[in-house]
Amino acid sequence: HSKRIGGDRIDVYKPAMRARKTDRLTLESELRRAIERREITILYQPIVRLEDRSIAGFEALARWDHPKLGRMSPSEFISIAEEIGLIVDLGMFVLDQTARQLSVWQRAMRSREPIFASVNVSSRQLLRHDLIHDIRTVLSRSSVARGTLKLELTESLVMENPEHAAQMLARIRELGTGLSLDDFGTGHSSLAYLQRFPFDTIKIDQSFVRTTSRGTRPVILKSIIALAHDLGMDVVAEGAETDSDAVELYQLGCEYAQGFAFGEPMDADAAMRLLTEERLEAAS
Ligand code: C2E
Ligand code: MG
Ligand code: MG
Ligand code: MG
Repeated sequence: HSKRIGGDRIDVYKPAMRARKTDRLTLESELRRAIERREITILYQPIVRLEDRSIAGFEALARWDHPKLGRMSPSEFISIAEEIGLIVDLGMFVLDQTARQLSVWQRAMRSREPIFASVNVSSRQLLRHDLIHDIRTVLSRSSVARGTLKLELTESLVMENPEHAAQMLARIRELGTGLSLDDFGTGHSSLAYLQRFPFDTIKIDQSFVRTTSRGTRPVILKSIIALAHDLGMDVVAEGAETDSDAVELYQLGCEYAQGFAFGEPMDADAAMRLLTEERLEAAS
């Protein structure tokens, strides 16, 4: 059995495989009940217009508040949820909550251009489940402005089954749902190939913004941005951590950015305060 240390953390019982397997099974069954137990929290990270630093939208990012292990990041539970098929329910939960939250924000800021919210989607939701039905349900239950709910999908997801993905994505676009290509540059396909899919936005992976050497960074970013624009897509840069990142991205022609420079993922109330403050600032 696992040993308790320091109050609320559990020391995973080390070398024995059997214990690790048990932990994994325990985690699986706990995760199955996490939604109904209200342990899944959604944080929202601002996506900012570099031109005037106004908030264009938010990305929804899931967290699991495990009663003993504390707050867990998606890297610790999304792949488990995918493997046990729970990602369909979890994904629907995130989609539904985000759409409801988005209508609340939009109602609170009626006079301005409506913000968007984007939700990450896993391959199983798109390729082996009726995601279109889920989107229809969610849109009918909330009152979000048309075109302001977006999905984020990765290159590897669409490349898993390009024909089927292309068909599904076209139908999703017909519902007025935006599509962002997430983590661009980390997969194996070219942007020109991805033109076959109806994405309206590409999100440049944060590795290009954060770790590429100062010398080559502008060259790479500039060519991704130019190609995206030639294909008629908007560009969001992920991982803008400093003000100078933001300035450089803007100078390179990137219109949107997301990163610690503008705000870490935050709860819905903090996001609402940010929107309200922004309104006060703009009004004064
Ligand atoms: P992603 O969609 O690429 O999300 C961006 C990740 O980068 C988030 O990590 C965010 O917190 C982090 N990030 C944002 N700005 C910065 C920055 O300036 N510096 C650094 N170092 N990191 C930054 P997070 O929240 O841990 O999410 C990780 C991944 O988990 C997401 O990557 C997404 O692929 C997945 N994920 C999150 N929520 C969901 C969900 O509801 N469903 C599915 N299927 N996947 C999700
Ligand atoms: Mg994303
Ligand atoms: Mg990303
Ligand atoms: Mg990423």
